[in-house]
Amino acid sequence: MKKIQIKTVKGFNEVLPPESFRWRLVEDKFRDLLEGYGFAELRLALLEPTELFARSIGGETDIVEKEMYTFADRSDRSLTLRPEGTASVVRAYNQYSLGKSSEINKLYYVGPMFRYERPQKGRYRQFHQLGAEVFGEESFYQDAETLVMLAQLFHALSIKGVELHLNSLGCDACRPAFRDHLKDYLSQRHEALCEDCRRRSLENPLRALDCKNPYCREAVADAPPISDSLCDDCSLHFTGLCGLLEDAGIDFQINPRLVRGLDYYTRTTFEFLAGDLGAQNAVAAGGRYDRLVEELGGKATPAFGFAIGFERLMMLIGSEVAPLTSPLVALIPLGEEALGLLFPIHVDLNRKAQVTTLSFQQKSLKSQLKKADKDGVIYALIVGQDELAQGEAICRNMRTKEQTKLPFERLRESLRELYHEC
Ligand code: ATP
Ligand code: MG
Repeated sequence: MKKIQIKTVKGFNEVLPPESFRWRLVEDKFRDLLEGYGFAELRLALLEPTELFARSIGGETDIVEKEMYTFADRSDRSLTLRPEGTASVVRAYNQYSLGKSSEINKLYYVGPMFRYERPQKGRYRQFHQLGAEVFGEESFYQDAETLVMLAQLFHALSIKGVELHLNSLGCDACRPAFRDHLKDYLSQRHEALCEDCRRRSLENPLRALDCKNPYCREAVADAPPISDSLCDDCSLHFTGLCGLLEDAGIDFQINPRLVRGLDYYTRTTFEFLAGDLGAQNAVAAGGRYDRLVEELGGKATPAFGFAIGFERLMMLIGSEVAPLTSPLVALIPLGEEALGLLFPIHVDLNRKAQVTTLSFQQKSLKSQLKKADKDGVIYALIVGQDELAQGEAICRNMRTKEQTKLPFERLRESLRELYHEC
C-alpha cells in the first residue's frame, strides 16, 4: 500500500509539548483569577445551528459573511463550528434558564474557535480563546470590574505594554441618529471605500469604521465621533467607567473608531492592543451587549463580556513561564526481573507527582544513562544482576557522579527523601 502522510487542516493550530505545559499554567492563572471574582466555567458545544451566529453576530459582518465554517449535516441542517463564544454562552444562558439562579451570572469558557481566515502569524483557522460573560448588571461598575480584572491578569502574567482602547457605541436611543449621520458622511466618500464597505455602508455603516483596508481607514479618519451623539444615559455610563479606571490606575485611550466587528454591542466596547504582536495586535476584546439575551429569546438582561486570544497571549508571554518540573529520578532496570521490581515503585511515586522515568525496553546501562542525562534528571537508580543478588540498588547522582547504595526494602522511603532534598 502506498504510504501517505496525513496532516492537519490548513491553519488549525495545535499545541504541542512543551508549549502545552505553558498553556496549562497560563490557563490555570486565568481560571484562578476568574473564580476568585466569582465566575464559573461553562463547557459548551463546538457546533451550533448556523442561525445562532447569523442572528447574534449580524449579517453584514466579516465573520458571518466570509469566515464561518458552515456545512450541512446528514439531515441537511445548517451547522457552524463556533467562531466565537459569546453567542453560545447566551444561547446556553437562555436554554438552561441560568438567570433564574442569581448565583450563575458570571460565566467563563476556554476552548477552540474556528474562522476561515488567511492563516498568518497570530491568525489561525482554529485558534483558542479564554472568555467570560457577566449577566444582569447594567452598572458601569461591572464594566470597570471586568476591565480591572483583565489588567490584573496581564500583570500576573508579567505582560507589559498592553494598551486598553475604549469606546462607547451608544444604545437604541442614540445610535440610530449616529448611524444616519455616518451614512451621510460615508455616502460623500463612497468612491474611496472598499467594495465591502460600499455594500455595507447602507445597512450597517458602523462597519466601515472597523475596516482594515487602508483606503477605508483614511476615508473614515475624520468621521464624526460617536461620543458627540451619545444620549445622556450613555454619556454618564461612559464617563463613569472612565473615572473608575482612572481611579484604579489603569491607563486607557478613547478610540472613537473602535466599533468591533460584531453587531451585538451596546455602550462600552474595548480592545487590549499589544505593539509586540505586529499586525495582529488585539490580544483581548469585548464589551457590553445589553440587547442580545432578549434578541436570542431570553428575558431582557444586560451583559458584558470579553475574549482573550490564547495564541496571541502566549506570544506576549514568550518563554517566561517555566515548564512543568522535569523528572527527578530515572529508574534504570537491567533485565526483566529488575524491571518487574522497579515498575510498582515507578507508578507509586508518579501517583504522588514525584516524577520518575522507566524504560520498558531492555536497553544497555550506557544508553539508559544517556537518556537520563538528556531528560535532566538528578538521580539514576540502577538495578542489575549484582544489585538483585545483594538486595541493594545503586543511586547515582547525575551531577556529582557520586554513587550510594539503597536497600530494596527501603527504596520508596529513600526515594521520597531524595525528593525532599531537591
Ligand atoms: P482581529 O481584529 O485580529 O481580526 P477580532 O476583532 O476578529 O480580531 P474578536 O472576535 O474580538 O477578534 O476575538 C477576540 C480575540 O480573539 C482577538 O482579540 C484575538 O486576540 C483573538 N482572535 C480573533 N481571531 C483570531 C484568529 N483568527 N486567530 C487567532 N486569534 C484570533
Ligand atoms: Mg477578525
